[in-house]
Amino acid sequence: MQATASAPKMPSIQTTPALSVQNLSTGYPNDRFAIENVSFDVQHGERVAMIGPNGAGKSTLFKAIVGIVPMAKGHISINGRSCHDSHNLVGYVPQHSDIDWSFPVTVTDVVMMGRARQIGWLRFPRRGDWQFVQSLLEQLTLSDLAHRQIGELSGGQQRRVFIARALAQETQVLLMDEPFTGVDTAAERDIMDALDLLSAQGITMIMATHDLQKAAQHFDKMLLMRGTSLAYGTPDEVLQPDILRQAYGGAVRVFDDGKQQLFITDEHGYG
Ligand code: ADP
Repeated sequence: MQATASAPKMPSIQTTPALSVQNLSTGYPNDRFAIENVSFDVQHGERVAMIGPNGAGKSTLFKAIVGIVPMAKGHISINGRSCHDSHNLVGYVPQHSDIDWSFPVTVTDVVMMGRARQIGWLRFPRRGDWQFVQSLLEQLTLSDLAHRQIGELSGGQQRRVFIARALAQETQVLLMDEPFTGVDTAAERDIMDALDLLSAQGITMIMATHDLQKAAQHFDKMLLMRGTSLAYGTPDEVLQPDILRQAYGGAVRVFDDGKQQLFITDEHGYG
């Protein structure tokens, strides 16, 4: 049905999403679009797991949201504001392999870097900035490591430092690119505990992960990517064999013992 000019306006019962991505297409100068027509809304405080095979465009989507890769088409808004003036309202934890861990900086330095906008150009951190960073280190159980060089930390500790750095921006939306890759089970648990703490504070999170089981257990929604947003919904809605096969092809196996379904994908990429 088409709306007419005289139709009365219905009161809006929807709240403004924390993050809204509509018809987003973007890519790299040498290439076709890496992602096309990606659309989804994330409500405040929701936890979304982004899944999809290698090369599906998960990292590109994050980079477009934080402005590292320019948008070709579409619209991104954060708390209802166009992302052109609110990129820095989003905290981003890149993939571990994208970070130079040999750079000689301490844990405190790295977290303080997240406050660059608050501190201002060519200024030094003020007392409030030091206190803020200290409180984040406490929350993420990193206080004992505050003066250590970042390269000396374990993989799990390094991921927690980068979560603290993203939060130092005073962000309400946190994007994490595969923080569990290459960490042991104990470190995974520590990261997950830290995320639970942040959820309790109402922080909205999107995490790219290959672990479908963990995604289903710990996240409210799942976004399935393969060059576009193939499916978005609750884990029950997205973890359907037919839907997963659209993304992973024959590379997904589903085991069902009557009590629970187990999804296994291989690491072959797409594209
Ligand atoms: P994922 O994170 O799901 O593995 P990516 O976003 O890294 O996927 O990649 C999506 C597509 O964009 C792939 O075809 C990949 O080769 C391409 N791509 C990623 N980064 C670059 C880059 N810096 N330059 C050119 N192409 C890129």
